[in-house]
Amino acid sequence: KLPIVAIVGRPNVGKSTLFNRLVGKRVALVDDRPGVTRDRREGTAVLLGMEFKIVDTAGVEDEDPDTLPGRMRMQTQNAVREADVALFLIDARAGIVPQDEEIARWLRSEDTPVILMANKAEGKAAESGVLEAYSLGFDTPMPFSAEHGDGLVDLFEALRPHI
Ligand code: GDP
Ligand code: MG
Repeated sequence: KLPIVAIVGRPNVGKSTLFNRLVGKRVALVDDRPGVTRDRREGTAVLLGMEFKIVDTAGVEDEDPDTLPGRMRMQTQNAVREADVALFLIDARAGIVPQDEEIARWLRSEDTPVILMANKAEGKAAESGVLEAYSLGFDTPMPFSAEHGDGLVDLFEALRPHI
């Protein structure tokens, strides 16, 4: 049975871009449960030969930019609880916003280990955002660019103890 990695974060931080980069083509659309319209995307990821199941928690997204609506939160919560490790993405260009802090507080209350990724970190525009990410109270944020593929080796190293 493959280890499970969940991707979490507020809308537009690059979760699906990361998911797509790690999964390539083998994507399954999974209906989470009756009454939850949103699909949870799962796939098999391969990173430098390391294989794991990856879950894109699209359920956190879209409905309300300011809060995590209960139903969506449940879906994401389940994904994190089932996961061996969670990748918590922030947008290093936008910096830390209250919704990131809300997700951080929630993740700290869960048992699943968290890897904090400062995405969109290519170029100078992201430097202050990477520094701000320290305030979320996890280990050193990992600068990453899902779009450009920067940081894949660091991600491999961070995931390895959990896989
Ligand atoms: P999600 O809502 O968290 O799933 O975010 P998406 O993956 O849909 O990405 C939101 C936007 O951010 C899209 O326009 C992406 O092209 C862009 N994006 C994702 N990753 C990066 C990155 O590493 N750098 C930059 N500059 N943009 C990115
Ligand atoms: Mg998405």
